[in-house]
Amino acid sequence: MTYALITGGSRGIGRAICCQLANMGYNILVNYKGNRAAAEETVQLVTSLGQQAEALAFDVADADAVRAVLGAWQAAHPEDKIEVLVNNAGIREDTLMMSMTDAQWNSVLDTSLGGMYTVTKQVLNNMLLARFGRIVNIVSLSGLKGMPGQVNYSAAKAGMIGATKALAQEIAKRNITVNAVAPGFIKTDMTEELNEKELAKLIPAQRFGTAEEVAAVVGFLVSKQAGYITGQVISVNGGLYA
Ligand code: NDP
Repeated sequence: MTYALITGGSRGIGRAICCQLANMGYNILVNYKGNRAAAEETVQLVTSLGQQAEALAFDVADADAVRAVLGAWQAAHPEDKIEVLVNNAGIREDTLMMSMTDAQWNSVLDTSLGGMYTVTKQVLNNMLLARFGRIVNIVSLSGLKGMPGQVNYSAAKAGMIGATKALAQEIAKRNITVNAVAPGFIKTDMTEELNEKELAKLIPAQRFGTAEEVAAVVGFLVSKQAGYITGQVISVNGGLYA
């Protein structure tokens, strides 16, 4: 069977991507860190769309855990392949640089950038052998323009963008595309405490986006029709200047 692995698939944008890719016929591996109930809810949603789904708990920032849990799944499923990887897991720890702690810097970098490195390495060899694959990295407007109060997050997402462009060039000849999707303000748990009414005034579309609007772009990049698009960053931000 053919699977798509979505890191941070239990909630928000990741969950919407799980449903989008299930609608495209993929079976889904729903990675999550600690929220088992939410992950099981995503599994149910995918199942109700007619595809197989499995929740896989591991912290993408913990390389040993990634190798142990994902490696065990791969060993137990020699006939199945992970054709699509969406590196979506991410956290924010916003504060001004002058008051940022090492822990705030490291946790954000280790989750987004470190997680992308470790999880991608774990699935890449099989994509190379299959001579087909799709990798989509969920970055951010912050990684393109930089956001005050988000030096750590902006660095993590900008790092992912550089890695996307480099890896795309390494593996394009094997029919594996690597792209990034850069959301602006999207309505999820991550943005729950933001003042949407005030911030919407700054957004040309005058509203936050939905997780489904991000997932639709991921779906297109994963589709066979998008095979000649690689190393790109596609913004989904309601017209905010990037
Ligand atoms: P949410 O906070 O709603 O969900 C975060 C998801 O990531 C959860 O599924 C969570 O799992 C998982 N996760 C967090 N840390 C880890 C970890 N160390 N290992 C594995 N899974 C982890 O976030 P969003 O849906 O809003 O964001 C998804 C992605 O989109 C992130 O990379 C974010 O940076 C990016 N983004 C979001 C924007 C927005 O406005 N919302 C804007 C731009 C980019 P669990 O449920 O177990 O906690």
